[in-house]
Amino acid sequence: MKIERIDLLHVQLKLKEPFETSSSRKDHLDHILVKIYSGGLIGYGECACPTEPFYCYETTQTCLHILKDFIIPRVLGQDIVSVEDLINRYRSIKGHNFAKSGLEMAWWDLLARWENKPLYKLLGGVRTAIESGVSLGIEESIADLLPKIERFLKEGYRRIKLKIKPGKDLAVVEAVRHHFGDIPLMLDANSAYTLQDLPLFKELDKYHLMMIEQPLAHDDIYDHSKLQREIKTPICLDESIHSAEDARKAIELGSCRIINIKPGRVGGLYEARKIHDLCYRQGIPVWCGGMHEYGIGRAHNIALSTLPNFTLPGDVSASSKYYHEDIVTPPIELDNGKIKVIEAPGIGYRPVEQQIKKYTVASYCFEA
Ligand SMILES: [Mg+2]
Repeated sequence: MKIERIDLLHVQLKLKEPFETSSSRKDHLDHILVKIYSGGLIGYGECACPTEPFYCYETTQTCLHILKDFIIPRVLGQDIVSVEDLINRYRSIKGHNFAKSGLEMAWWDLLARWENKPLYKLLGGVRTAIESGVSLGIEESIADLLPKIERFLKEGYRRIKLKIKPGKDLAVVEAVRHHFGDIPLMLDANSAYTLQDLPLFKELDKYHLMMIEQPLAHDDIYDHSKLQREIKTPICLDESIHSAEDARKAIELGSCRIINIKPGRVGGLYEARKIHDLCYRQGIPVWCGGMHEYGIGRAHNIALSTLPNFTLPGDVSASSKYYHEDIVTPPIELDNGKIKVIEAPGIGYRPVEQQIKKYTVASYCFEA
């Protein structure tokens, strides 16, 4: 397929309520939507990169820069024969996975529309609905957190993930276990701790958590292997896995027992599927993380989550968890703790141009 035109849309959505992790607090998001045009069809992707460099070094502006100045010139007007062919054209660009993922995912959506198949089937998915969990930010007080957990459990979410940071960890877990008993519960530290905190992690072992996500440095796999040997709670890696090669090394070192796969963090669905396949062979369960994606990125995550080794509930929640209004129709909804896959060509959920336009703050068009 020849890439005839690419549009980049800087779309800003306000969160229903601010979200705090160990490294940042945000009340709105700035994602770049990517539209690829070919043969009368349009494929949609999303760079779900944070605005600021606190999760990784990329930002909304670096995504725009890398796409405009380096990736798009390598693919625009080119006749692309496969996803490998697409990726090979910008392989020499180091890192910048969120920037790459927006374009790569738009290509997958286009390809699925071209073949008149749902994207999940093209990827090899086996599920028609995915189990949904919810991720809760750090709250001022435990009293603020408990009613939120109650609400999301009532809505049917299959597991609760709590963001933690030093000083807001053990007491929070203790209170949540005390109030809600044996609910499926996990923690995400977003790399806020070091090996010096080993006594804390040993204490956390008592609470039978499903896992603790990225407790140590964002770029570490070695210290995680030391920590995993000392504690019972499975470690799940997020920030430090950027490729199937990173995953292989982490598994060989024993740095984790679970991996969180985010297409944005690993450069798109092709690499995400490679990590999935590797973990499947090695008996390491995976789940799909989230970057508060808009409906387009979220629909891609749903398609990915239908692969067989996505056996744990992910962070793919309903649109209403984060936004008053989403940019796809139908909005992504929860049904008994699950999200349905839509049997339509491409990502299934349909982008609503009128809504996208309403929230677009800048747009760029590149024609061959
Ligand atoms: Mg995480």
